[in-house]
Amino acid sequence: MKLQPLAQWKCDACGQIIASPEAGWVEWMAGPTPGTKAHGFRIVHNSNRCQYPSSARA
Ligand SMILES: [Zn+2]
Repeated sequence: MKLQPLAQWKCDACGQIIASPEAGWVEWMAGPTPGTKAHGFRIVHNSNRCQYPSSARA
């Protein structure tokens, strides 16, 4: 089976469609201490409105 490349994503913050790869942002939370696993991977709009606060990002 041949997979089609992804062209659109849904923003995990606001639920709206992310129309292009350039408009998207992949982010995650750092673990509570260095060396612990990152978590909370998600795709959101490339904007402050949808991204985690910078204090929570890795
Ligand atoms: Zn969004």
